[in-house]
Amino acid sequence: MQTEARIKAINCQHFINGQFVDSKNQKTFENINPATEEVLGTVAEGGKEEVGYAVAAARRALKGPWKNTTLQERSKILRRIGDLILERQEELAHLESLDTGKPFSLANSIDIPRAAYNFHFYADYITSVGTEAYQQDQQALHYAYRRPVGVVGIIKPWNLPLLLLTWKLAPCLGMGNTAVIKPAEWTPMTATVLMEICKEAGVPDGVVNLVHGFGPNSAGGAISEHPDIDAISFIGEPGTGSAIMKSSADSLKKLSYELGGKNPNIIFADADLDEVIETTIKSSFVNQGEVCLCGSRIYVERPIYSEFVSRFAERVKALKVGHPLDDDTNVGALVSKEHYDRVMGYVEIAKNDGGTIVTGGKRPEGLEKGYYLEPTIITDLSRNSRCVREEIFGPVVTVTPFDMEEEVVMQANDTHYGLSATIWTSNLKRAHRVSHQIEAGIIWVNTWFLRDLRTPFGGMKNSGIGRTGGMHSIDFYSELSNITIKL
Ligand code: NAD
Repeated sequence: MQTEARIKAINCQHFINGQFVDSKNQKTFENINPATEEVLGTVAEGGKEEVGYAVAAARRALKGPWKNTTLQERSKILRRIGDLILERQEELAHLESLDTGKPFSLANSIDIPRAAYNFHFYADYITSVGTEAYQQDQQALHYAYRRPVGVVGIIKPWNLPLLLLTWKLAPCLGMGNTAVIKPAEWTPMTATVLMEICKEAGVPDGVVNLVHGFGPNSAGGAISEHPDIDAISFIGEPGTGSAIMKSSADSLKKLSYELGGKNPNIIFADADLDEVIETTIKSSFVNQGEVCLCGSRIYVERPIYSEFVSRFAERVKALKVGHPLDDDTNVGALVSKEHYDRVMGYVEIAKNDGGTIVTGGKRPEGLEKGYYLEPTIITDLSRNSRCVREEIFGPVVTVTPFDMEEEVVMQANDTHYGLSATIWTSNLKRAHRVSHQIEAGIIWVNTWFLRDLRTPFGGMKNSGIGRTGGMHSIDFYSELSNITIKL
């Protein structure tokens, strides 16, 4: 047991023009530990004024020495940021665990190493990027000249705070932009530490700025509306994406959206069931199911349906729900009371819709404080139930049998979302055929969450706009001018 945090929580200030500062009106809000419901510390509550200062600093920095940094110099800075994240890995993993309720072991093995890798990856990648050039007979040479977009607003969710922030910030800085970041209000700590790291790594003042606060009528709204922000990189819910689009419409900002998912996990009878169960445990319940890529709708071909449900349930019952800092915890606490109530609401909906709670659906015994929910498997729901249609974003999955390939493809696509899908089969032709029909931006066959950062990442339908990863991120964080030279 190591429930006593070795690392102390921090109070979070804004970071503007290279300095940690409070809000002008000194306003703060409390940061709550979801595992204990205790107050972790205070967070400066920013709004229009702080965003205004941050944007002004970012604009000045864009025209300052940052403008003249070479690709090699920026690559070196990115590499140094990645190194410093790894030097402070345990501290960052603790803070992430305290803020989100996720197991420390998960933050320490996935979130923080990947945050460092986001910087290391782009440190290399930006130095290898070429440009388009076309020779038009003897008449002309055309080439594309790349430059930064300008000041980028980065608005983040709470589920993988540092991993997702660094996924955006690394290519943003690599391509020579400046940034105004707003972390999610429930998880402000690691973003705050990242500002210290950026400064230590040599990022000039004003290049990276951080304003804490809430969404509409607060820091998030102020970023979306600000006329001097050129682009917004947003990760969050589709409804928020729509609100940001409306408030950023007047200034016609460039937008990159990674939104929610209600991802199908399709299991054919010819799949390796041991492997399926092993991976489905993760794709259902890792990070308390609070991952946009979780396969929360499980479809199983009828011949193996009963066996799957009983073996899956047996394994799920053995998962240890517990304090995030305990070494043997598999599933921690949900991020906040508001979110916990929302997820519990879906369990009630399932019951009212005639669903069978195979396992879970309740607070684990012995954990009276904190936002804990046993991993929950629900069967016998019709495809019209809100539990099958809406993103729950918690440790809750539905399992549905199917008979025909066409039927499961139709059900998988019967959603406004289109982020990811997993297909389990040993039939190669079927793997290709089904993959080509599923409406999702990311499709895994016989695996889940296997990532290569060069590949296009993002969702279709209401799950996103545009792609990130590799060249796709380079394209978002830069503007191209085509230059034609008459020969
Ligand atoms: P959210 O949309 O509620 O909030 C995200 C951020 O937007 C927060 O910082 C919030 O303060 C801010 N915000 C809220 N309203 C705003 C407004 N009107 N204007 C400007 N900013 C505003 O999302 P969340 O609950 O933090 O995160 C969960 C969602 O994120 C889920 O839908 C999940 O699937 C999605 N997500 C997607 C990906 C992906 O890669 N596709 C990754 C992680 C999470």
